[in-house]
Amino acid sequence: MNADADTPARLGRPRYRRILLKLSGEALMGQKAYGIDWDVLEAYAQEIRQVVQLGVSVGIVIGGGNIFRGVQNARRGMTRAHADYMGMLATMINAMALQDALEQAGLDTRLQSSIKMEQIAEPFIRRRAIRHLEKGRVVIFGAGTGNPYFTTDTAAALRALEIEADVLLKGTRVEGVYSADPERDPEARLFTSIHGREVIRRDLKVMDMTAFTLCREAGLPIVVFNMNKQGNLLRVVCGEPVGTLVYWTETPPTFAEVAQA
Ligand code: UDP
Repeated sequence: MNADADTPARLGRPRYRRILLKLSGEALMGQKAYGIDWDVLEAYAQEIRQVVQLGVSVGIVIGGGNIFRGVQNARRGMTRAHADYMGMLATMINAMALQDALEQAGLDTRLQSSIKMEQIAEPFIRRRAIRHLEKGRVVIFGAGTGNPYFTTDTAAALRALEIEADVLLKGTRVEGVYSADPERDPEARLFTSIHGREVIRRDLKVMDMTAFTLCREAGLPIVVFNMNKQGNLLRVVCGEPVGTLVYWTETPPTFAEVAQA
């Protein structure tokens, strides 16, 4: 792909003022079976830099599934809450790695944690986070919600609402929301847009229900897209039809309409 073809100048102005980007821990693994693929991290930092350069204010919630997932370990006998706290610490490892990658890409960042870790992160303070965003800093929200029995998807929905983001962008390894698992079902089709109600009716796994309910109640649109495709984040932010738009209005809006709302 010609990187120049996707420069901000070609794509025009951003359609969102503020975004909350959710990155899963698994996406950070790239082709590896565990941990962090540094090339993926570096690529993400470049993608994020492009949208920050356009003037978009960016909050990020990062998962921890590439390092530790609470529920899996709880199945082996560990107390669920204990395992979940370990999972939250795993998100902090990713958050610190991402912070470093973003700074190496020349961005100003702040890391806020939902669990106190004074030496490495600020505590999560909503007003402070907003102030950082207003100053053009990328704010990474680590340690999920700070509570066991939740996920980083829920943290993403919660923080998106708290910072008054216009949209929740869920960056994944797949193109968007499919009617079935595309790796198992050749008939599976990718939705360009879908009503949130339909996502629930078809039991499509966009996010867990707690996260989804938060978005529904606030009417917060979600775009699920492939974060591993170069230039995709920029295209989404510029209102191009990339990935799947999950909407809550009665009639389906276009990507550009959602972005301009
Ligand atoms: N977690 C938690 N509370 C939160 C967020 C995360 O207990 O608010 C724990 C939970 O054990 C989860 C782990 O942290 O399995 C890693 O987060 P998640 O599975 O959401 O990461 P992702 O799937 O996005 O990589």
